[in-house]
Amino acid sequence: MKALIAAPIHRDAVKLLEDAGIQVTYKEYPSEKELSELVVDADILFVRSKPLVTAEVISKAKKLKIIARAGVGLDNIDVKAAEAKGIRVINTPEATTRSVAELTIGLMLAVARKIAYSDRKMREGKWVKKEAEGIELRNKTLGIIGFGRIGREVAAIASKGLGMKILYFDVYRVSPEVERELGAAYVDLETLVKESDVISVHVPLTPETKGLISESLLRMMKRNAILINTSRGGVVDTKALIKALKEGWIAGAGLDVYEEEPLPPNHPLTELDNVVLTPHIGASTEEAQERAGIDAVKKVLELIKEFKQE
Ligand code: NAD
Repeated sequence: MKALIAAPIHRDAVKLLEDAGIQVTYKEYPSEKELSELVVDADILFVRSKPLVTAEVISKAKKLKIIARAGVGLDNIDVKAAEAKGIRVINTPEATTRSVAELTIGLMLAVARKIAYSDRKMREGKWVKKEAEGIELRNKTLGIIGFGRIGREVAAIASKGLGMKILYFDVYRVSPEVERELGAAYVDLETLVKESDVISVHVPLTPETKGLISESLLRMMKRNAILINTSRGGVVDTKALIKALKEGWIAGAGLDVYEEEPLPPNHPLTELDNVVLTPHIGASTEEAQERAGIDAVKKVLELIKEFKQE
């Protein structure tokens, strides 16, 4: 069997694959054209949040049986087109949860305490002690939109570690036991937006969540509130967010994901001092990548066993 690895996968995971007798080809983030050519004789395709696996790519695959996403989001894969061809699509939803949650907390602190701003000014030789006055997070209200794996992990760290009050909104309500354990209260979206000092977004990108953080929602936020997005760029209306940050409808934002990635050079967001930007590194930790790669390979090897039994 042949595996095409089209994104960096942890070395221990690649070894596991090779030890199972699978022939591995590696091409990091190929273009759609390159991937269409490389995928022709692959049985298994490994990706992360990139490259794009379009219907066009899938139409070129002659032997493909499995697309394995080391990580969570499947928005770079045309799952419908894959399933229509009988290709199984798997991911490793739990592997990256802790890393994304920790980055989320890091961004909250970086914005609240103006850490990135202070660092930039220090390097310019400026001692901005007054301008860099921030706020504490203890006793502040954190509103979590999307209370799945990452949202709940953020809630646990923020409530137990930082003493924040937690509000959450989701299409599903968690059990009263989980709410009690996390000290979280379920509210409607409008209440969450109006009452939170920090809002953190953890929904998947779907037609329903596209642009969910809209201009009208940003205008409803407290003027001293902070928005954090480590989910998907498309969930936030970027133009409206830039207006909100420039015109002071909100105090600041921390972003790991963007409508267009990589974020183009000289993007208006890069000119604002009250926003902290990271280049989609939520899942980029040694631990998360090891778990994601190994979980993905284990799932693939299980599926191959199943195929052989059929
Ligand atoms: P999850 O599926 O466990 O949780 C998502 C939650 O959102 C679910 O509880 C779901 O019910 C809720 N939801 C879906 N649609 C909704 C809607 N319209 N309104 C309200 N709630 C809605 O997913 P997760 O593992 O917690 O991941 C959350 C997000 O984080 C995803 O967008 C994922 O792509 C992103 N992510 C980012 C990185 C990164 O590197 N920054 C890494 C991993 C995951």
